[in-house]
Amino acid sequence: MDLSEISVYAHGGFRRYEDAKIGLLSHGLQYGTGCFEGIRGYWVPEQRELFLVLVRDHYERLATSSKILTIALPKSADELVDLTVEICLRNNYQRDVYVRPFCYKAAEDVGVRLHGSPDAFAIVAIPFTHYLDTERGLHVCVSSWRRTDDTMAPPRAKITGLYINSALAKSEAVENGYDEAILLSHDGHVAEGSAENVFLTRRGVLYTPDPSQNVLEGVTRKAIIDIARNDLGLEVIERSIDRGELYAADEIFFTGTATGIAYVASVDRRRVGDGEIGPITKTLSDLYARIVTGREPRYAGWLTPTYASSNVKV
Ligand code: PMP
Repeated sequence: MDLSEISVYAHGGFRRYEDAKIGLLSHGLQYGTGCFEGIRGYWVPEQRELFLVLVRDHYERLATSSKILTIALPKSADELVDLTVEICLRNNYQRDVYVRPFCYKAAEDVGVRLHGSPDAFAIVAIPFTHYLDTERGLHVCVSSWRRTDDTMAPPRAKITGLYINSALAKSEAVENGYDEAILLSHDGHVAEGSAENVFLTRRGVLYTPDPSQNVLEGVTRKAIIDIARNDLGLEVIERSIDRGELYAADEIFFTGTATGIAYVASVDRRRVGDGEIGPITKTLSDLYARIVTGREPRYAGWLTPTYASSNVKV
């Protein structure tokens, strides 16, 4: 994908991607001292509208992550929502998009630390390309890598450097013939996928690790819990989950902004259910797809319509 001409926000203003350079010694790059978000926009041709999903929730999480890393954001959550809309408009996106806001320690010297560094902020919005295959079931393994513990670096913050843990697990899984990994926390409980939260069902109840299990507090995770409770009337239990419960589950699925909902066909070569998408996963997945494309009016509050928010006509 040639990104050189797209319009990004960096160094306090809009510029071409190609012109938004950062220094080689930037701390965020050298030491992973940054945090970021991933936001999805769904283009709905019939409405000629690009719906950004739960944008404010993402900026609230960015505020939490940046507070943990003592990075000052240059604008309020509401201003950042507006900026995100503006970037999509400047690029005239009429297709699915993925928005990547991030902030980082911008000192250009040697010496790891958080204090005494200027902070920087940028947003890049790119056309969305496929992340995990949600059409077919995923074959998943339990990773030999453990999820970073909160006593080491807090996984509830979406910290750049923490993604080395995800990258090790993901590549190990793929190179061993799986699609994705599930990481256990250091005490052996189920944490999450490399970039997704994990849910399972058993006897009609939905389970997911609670936020103290070294997981990212996923925006999609919360959305799915809300619709499972409110629309499906399901019992949803957030608690620590054993590895064995993955093998005993009726259904397992991942949630994430990039992924949406992806069902798991097997874990460690043990088939989940009959290996096809289960009824609860299917219902949640269909409803979520309708919500993010503006087809469920009662969830309109989750969406920021890009074109309707502006004076620009398409
Ligand atoms: N866990 C991790 C480690 C992730 O990177 C992501 C993707 N942001 C998720 C869970 C899912 O979070 P969300 O639904 O907010 O995208």
